[in-house]
Amino acid sequence: MRSPIPDYLAEVHDTCGELLGGAVADYIPELAAADPDTFAIALATVDGTVYAAGEADHRFTIQSMSKPFTYGIALADRGLDQVLAKVGVEPSGEAFNEISLDPDTGQPRNPMINAGAILTHSLVEGEDADARFEHLRQTFSRIAGHPLPMDEDVFTSEWATTHRNLAMGHMLKAVGVLDIDPVDAVEGYVRQCSITVNCRDLAMMAATLANGGVQPASGELIFRRRVVRQVLSVMTTCGMYDAAGDWLTTVGIPAKSGVSGGIIGALPGQVGIAVFSPRLDEHGNSVRGLRAFERLSRDMGMHLMDVTRDARTSLRGSYVTDGDHPTEVHKVQGDLRFAGVESLVRAVSAQPPRASRVAFDLTRVSEIDDVSTRVLLEVIRRLHLDDKVEVLIIDPDHVLGEHGVEVPYARRLHHVRELTAS
Ligand code: GLU
Repeated sequence: MRSPIPDYLAEVHDTCGELLGGAVADYIPELAAADPDTFAIALATVDGTVYAAGEADHRFTIQSMSKPFTYGIALADRGLDQVLAKVGVEPSGEAFNEISLDPDTGQPRNPMINAGAILTHSLVEGEDADARFEHLRQTFSRIAGHPLPMDEDVFTSEWATTHRNLAMGHMLKAVGVLDIDPVDAVEGYVRQCSITVNCRDLAMMAATLANGGVQPASGELIFRRRVVRQVLSVMTTCGMYDAAGDWLTTVGIPAKSGVSGGIIGALPGQVGIAVFSPRLDEHGNSVRGLRAFERLSRDMGMHLMDVTRDARTSLRGSYVTDGDHPTEVHKVQGDLRFAGVESLVRAVSAQPPRASRVAFDLTRVSEIDDVSTRVLLEVIRRLHLDDKVEVLIIDPDHVLGEHGVEVPYARRLHHVRELTAS
């Protein structure tokens, strides 16, 4: 059987390819030379499979799609507090290249606009400009899965005309938030924007964010979860230039676009998506890219706020076994998060135990998050100490207390069969 997914992507590509509106960015002279008709879509799953349609190997400069990753590196290198002391997290409501600071804090408003991105670049670890850039380029390469070169022509072209960014660098220095030389900071930032990628690379980079910071193909942990949460949050509120609200309501995927014509989107736990087509709308977002994301979100139910109902049905059922040691067994299912564990606890605590042994059958549970683990451990403790029952955990895959957490007051079994044997 041939997978229908590539055919679906090809159909989206063909349909959106009919859009001819918008214009290629020309304020960076070299970008004006881009072929306006180039169009590619790529989708990478969190287990590393990449689907693509169109010219997915065509290379272009990453531009502002670099900003979330640089923010992630700065957070990893300096810690959240130090970064937050320098760059805010509020949407600016202004153009990406506005020469402005937050009047209350004196900081750039967020890391997705240029002022914030220049400052973020300066926070990347490295003893000088070259070391900083090389650390950044190598980390980008690990996230993409192979070495990413810089486009010297685009760099030279932007560097020669980047007066606004230089003005921002000097402004940041003048108000005292930028610690390094402003020209070095802006040059490093422009180099960062000139790193080249193709749509497959970008989809994999987005999938690394979607996958909790673990590169799907190599399995390497690039960013810790707390860093990923911060990056995705800022992408959600500030990633789509001044059209972030429209994007969040219609597409609902944390995203970042760039003036070269790309848009990346990272849907937590599911996929990374990248679209490239150079013609931009009045906000600076790729016209075909927007439409393609709208289609994917709608057709594949990818809106962040389209929450599944799974969490509410964690208890599949309860029964009492026959035999010498009657046991009340609660069959639990799905991934346990707060809402799921709450419904489970509510059901279990609604009446006293029906036997002198209570078992939780976790055979059909694939993951239990921290809060659910804590709640479940407390339930076990109370059943044991207050209700004086023996508690059994049937947990063949060791999902409870996965990270070395002890489970006192309960005996572990590997299979329901062992209930009758013990
Ligand atoms: N290098 C570009 C600039 O600073 C990036 C802009 C963008 O992609 O939004 O103007």
